[in-house]
Amino acid sequence: MSKVQPSKKFNESLPSRAQVVIVGGGVIGCSIAYHLTKLGWQDVVLVERKQLTSGTTWHAAGLVVTPSGDELSVEMSTYTRELMKTLEAETGQSTGFKAIGYLQLACTQEWLEERRRMAVAARRLGINYQEISPAEVKKMWPLAETSDILAGFYTPEDGRANPVDFTMALAKGARMGGAKIFEEIEVVGINKENGRVTGVVTDKGEIEAEIVVNSAGLWGRQLGNLAGVNIPLQAAEHYYLLTEPIEGVHADVPIIEDFGRYSYFREEVGGLLVGFFEPVAAPWGVDGIPKDFAFGEINPDWDRMMPYVEIAMERIPVLKDAGIHKFFCGPESFTPDGGPLMGETPELKNFYVAAGLNFLGILQGGGVGKIMAQWIVDGYCPVDSLHIDIARCFPFQGTQKYLTDRTVETLGLQYQLIYPNFANETARDVRKTAIHEQLAQAGAFFTEGMGWEIPDWYAPAGVEAKVEKYTWGRQNWFKYLAAEHKACREDVILMDVTSMSKFLVQGRDAEKVLNNICANNVAVPVGKVVYTQWLNERGGMVADLTVTRLAEDKYFIVSAGDFYTHDLMWLKKHIPADAHAMVTDVTSGYTLLNIQGPKSRDLLSKLTSADISNETFPYMSARDIDVNYACVQCFRVTYEGELGYELYVPTEFSAHVYESVVEAGQNLGLRHAGFQALNSLRIEKAYLEYGHDMDNMDTPLEAGLSFAVKFDKPGGFIGRDALLRHKESGPLKYRMVQFLLEDPEPLLYGNEVIYRDGVIVGYLQTGAYGFTLGGAMGMGFVEHEDGATKEFINGGSYEIDITGVRFPARASLRPMYDPKGLKIRV
Ligand SMILES: Cc1cc2nc3c(=O)[nH]c(=O)nc-3n(C[C@H](O)[C@H](O)[C@H](O)COP(=O)(O)OP(=O)(O)OC[C@H]3O[C@@H](n4cnc5c(N)ncnc54)[C@H](O)[C@@H]3O)c2cc1C
Repeated sequence: MSKVQPSKKFNESLPSRAQVVIVGGGVIGCSIAYHLTKLGWQDVVLVERKQLTSGTTWHAAGLVVTPSGDELSVEMSTYTRELMKTLEAETGQSTGFKAIGYLQLACTQEWLEERRRMAVAARRLGINYQEISPAEVKKMWPLAETSDILAGFYTPEDGRANPVDFTMALAKGARMGGAKIFEEIEVVGINKENGRVTGVVTDKGEIEAEIVVNSAGLWGRQLGNLAGVNIPLQAAEHYYLLTEPIEGVHADVPIIEDFGRYSYFREEVGGLLVGFFEPVAAPWGVDGIPKDFAFGEINPDWDRMMPYVEIAMERIPVLKDAGIHKFFCGPESFTPDGGPLMGETPELKNFYVAAGLNFLGILQGGGVGKIMAQWIVDGYCPVDSLHIDIARCFPFQGTQKYLTDRTVETLGLQYQLIYPNFANETARDVRKTAIHEQLAQAGAFFTEGMGWEIPDWYAPAGVEAKVEKYTWGRQNWFKYLAAEHKACREDVILMDVTSMSKFLVQGRDAEKVLNNICANNVAVPVGKVVYTQWLNERGGMVADLTVTRLAEDKYFIVSAGDFYTHDLMWLKKHIPADAHAMVTDVTSGYTLLNIQGPKSRDLLSKLTSADISNETFPYMSARDIDVNYACVQCFRVTYEGELGYELYVPTEFSAHVYESVVEAGQNLGLRHAGFQALNSLRIEKAYLEYGHDMDNMDTPLEAGLSFAVKFDKPGGFIGRDALLRHKESGPLKYRMVQFLLEDPEPLLYGNEVIYRDGVIVGYLQTGAYGFTLGGAMGMGFVEHEDGATKEFINGGSYEIDITGVRFPARASLRPMYDPKGLKIRV
């Protein structure tokens, strides 16, 4: 937290070209430079507007702790922690890391259950995450009030570091590896040509570059604007209080996190540093970050923060009598979903970003730099990219109103208990489908995703659509969900799934281009729907979608709403410049109504003159049909495991088609159903959800999707050779398996640990209740170094660990519901 002096020694003459220019000399920029040199790239130039660390890094509290639960976060944090230990020997510059331990407090039953769930996941990931008693907490922290504590969760290996020293060690290491670092150089423009970055314009001259990296922290959005690129991050105030020395506080007391009091505590020069994650935060610099802000502070808003200071003091009562040395407020950047923004920007080739660290920049900085360097060198992400890739963002998320409104919530969420069906409360009602009001009338409870208001479940007539209490158990809507699920299995349901992404690819070369991108063969007759994955060069899945041939030269692509930006970018990126194939985004052009269930054909027959019999309109085919007065595209597909149809309705016909379907369904037991039902139905049928069950690190082979890979199709496809090598390299080390708990009571949400014959073999990616099969179900990869063969998987007995209690489970490589797929082909 000390300000650094200008390091003139860094400043040599600015080169006119470099392979990579990194903009921003905070912890992230320096870490990327360091890691690029470790991969052998020496022609690396880092430019910093003022002095290294002068943005956010200099005033960080230096917590180096391991967030539990999420695999990638744990990987980035543990890597950073270990790097902090070795950098001094390598560079001669200390990082100030000290393993003083990290203690989280659970003071309510809800937090206790949440932490115990996390503990199971954390231990699986190798974190030494120990549950300790209130008496042990008291022993570690005699000054803490412990009467309300139910348990502590302690990680002895975690600790603190000096953020400035760590950054300087990274910068020194980078320079030792050949990188050049320049201070007092501001980037004022980004040069580009034909959709590709070509260099930067600085206040001291231009630098031509193959690759430019935006690690400008709070300024990341402004720098993105210079390049015409959307970097949706927003600065917000973050506070800590520093006290005078306090008797009994010593340098080795562990860091405490007290979620219920929105605060964290650690020693600082014999006194305490008390930091805050207040539930309602204050965005800062909404009109742009001041140009000259360096080693800057924000005037604290005492009135707003005082209530939080007071409740924090109750945890360490001596604080009430301690002298306050400083109430510090500094800005940090936050993103709409709380994840960092990393990777190549969708709008501009070779323009990378690593910004929006959401308070985790120091403790994950090493890992972020390592991943970014590998990403830049290889051209694809070396880890599960779903929660870090900038390509998950949408253009509307870069609007000032959206960012300001959402940021009020994101900082506070760091210390809030997030239940599985949590939905953001800020920046709502952004995207509504054309029949939103009708669905609300029908009882929809809306959740939020990608800005869309998405029906989650429906309350029956006369009942308010409201979550009474978030819990890990059965919530008030569980019975409504059960009814929706049953209606799909026995009668018919109607879902509005308009939030799916929809693209047209048209032109003479459409088939050729798509066949190169898709692992399945799309050279099919007109009217055929093809389920396929898109792979990267390594054979990892980057998308999971359907491609439907509407005409010789026209395809319709449907993928999950979450991957809109990514999939559109991937498509455009892989269409050669000289190919005759045009991509059109038609997401907003269609309302997507999904009619599923054994009575769906009966329902549709009442509305159409088209022959929709199984013989003329079989499973996985598409037709233009009439629905009363409307002409719609109808696909006979299912994600629920039943006979069903998707109606792509031109938006202005939405209300008419919706009302027609509702009326026709009256005597057929039609129910509205939401996304919770979609999830429970698809898990019973073991249909996978990209981004939840599988990601870019998995191939179709592990996921059990080999049936959708056509190795022998003419011309091959992206990732084919790598996937073939993988296939021929011996038995798979892990495979997707479906699980059903034998006890109908417990619920599963994902992240629970899988035991086979008493040994941990994996964890659940997702979970939901299988109402037809009568128990909680989950999808998870089972790992076995010597081969996750059919014999291995079928030959064991399984248990699933929920909060430390193991429940017997059935495991299956084939869907437990309708394994032969008979219901979908009737
Ligand atoms: C009060 C507080 C406490 C914190 N405590 C912790 C903690 O305990 N642990 C933790 O892990 N994280 C903590 N953080 C978060 C952490 O400090 C940040 O995540 C991290 O410093 C971000 O690093 P960065 O490199 O992305 O950004 P910065 O450090 O802001 O670096 C960006 C740099 O880019 C430069 N720049 C901007 N525009 C240009 C341009 N056009 N040309 C050239 N240079 C430019 C800026 O001058 C700046 O130096 C804390 C944050 C705050 C506010």
